[in-house]
Amino acid sequence: MKRKASERKKKYGRIDGCVRCGRKRGIVRRYRMHLCRQCFREIAPELGFKKYS
Ligand SMILES: [Zn+2]
Repeated sequence: MKRKASERKKKYGRIDGCVRCGRKRGIVRRYRMHLCRQCFREIAPELGFKKYS
């Protein structure tokens, strides 16, 4: 069975690592983001997360 292609957004395809740097360790899969901890901490302030450590 095939689902409508429009239902799924293939933005990243298979996410195996950080979408920002490609690192595969310490991926934070919160908030539907796939970022390593480093990248997460870097962009967290921009997203409104202040305390994360
Ligand atoms: Zn990263």
